[in-house]
Amino acid sequence: MYIVPKLDDYSPEALDRAVTELRQALSREEASISSQSEWKEFRDRWLARKNGILTQLNNVWLKPSPPDLKRTVGQVINALHPEIEHFVMNGQSRVEDIRTVLGSLSKDILASERLDITLPGIRRPIGVKHPVLRVMDEIVAVFKAMGYSVGKGPEVETDYYNFESLNFPPNHPARDTQDTLFIAGQEGKPARDRLMLRTHTSPVQIRTMEQQPPPVRIIIPGKVHRNDPLDATHSPVFHQVEGLAVDTNITFCDLKGTLDHAMKALFGSSVKTRFYPSFFPFTEPSADMQVSCIFCGGKGCRKCKFSGWIELLGCGMVDPNVFEFVKQYGYDSSKISGFAFGMGVDRLALLKYEVEGIQMFFEGDVRFLEQFA
Ligand SMILES: [Zn+2]
Repeated sequence: MYIVPKLDDYSPEALDRAVTELRQALSREEASISSQSEWKEFRDRWLARKNGILTQLNNVWLKPSPPDLKRTVGQVINALHPEIEHFVMNGQSRVEDIRTVLGSLSKDILASERLDITLPGIRRPIGVKHPVLRVMDEIVAVFKAMGYSVGKGPEVETDYYNFESLNFPPNHPARDTQDTLFIAGQEGKPARDRLMLRTHTSPVQIRTMEQQPPPVRIIIPGKVHRNDPLDATHSPVFHQVEGLAVDTNITFCDLKGTLDHAMKALFGSSVKTRFYPSFFPFTEPSADMQVSCIFCGGKGCRKCKFSGWIELLGCGMVDPNVFEFVKQYGYDSSKISGFAFGMGVDRLALLKYEVEGIQMFFEGDVRFLEQFA
């Protein structure tokens, strides 16, 4: 670091030496600057009005100089002023060059990571409802409009809720119609507590009646499982929508009227319904309901196997034996009655979308599912 030396000798040779020393220091210091802050320090060190080196020259060299040489010393110092300023400016432009280089470097980086907001965005396809879910929601919506609420229950169910309380006694042959998938390792439990994948949504009827006294109007959509090998119309996983209405004075006419209205809401007002005797353990009497073919209007086509009718659901009046299981919750079969119905959603979706095999719904093939987007 340069310190302004006192001059004992004011001879022209001595002054020359001192000025040369100063110039060398100035040049050295300027060359060592590499940043904006170092440059500012350099500038102030040499040019600051209060104690910069230029000011010090006046105090250290000029003031103590012999009066007859003051003029010469003053001229030497004045000549140094523009030189110092020249170096300060040089330093500044050099630092700015460094900044420019750094700036252009980061510009390269910026350019490589640049986001062109004028490009079209990346399309992220929004999922749509699965065709089975869509049909299920349509059915549920029809019943919601009639004042039904939506009920849900577990897919892993106990023997009690899936069979026993729905009037399928142990070893009853009706159980054979529902090939059941049982959960392994249940042998240690009492028969009614053993777990299985529910074979129908009907257990939710019992669960609902345990939760609330009559009247009940409930629609139950859900996934069910049976030990059916996969073919065009069977799948070990399928979907049902189940309905239950319990109140005083509910008759088979209410059942027919409700379902007839629902089918007209689903398929159009020209659709007709008819009921055939059938059997289910939890309804008495039981019926199968058919609708006039929604494709040919009843004339006969491939879809209705040229009969003009399509079998769509099972239904019936709730068997008094079922009410026995929920008697303590306010269901006295001498005072109340009800009807229940259930339909396979997948079969409806097969018909509606003219799909060849039920497995198409569950294979997750996007090319198939995209058709419903
Ligand atoms: Zn038809």
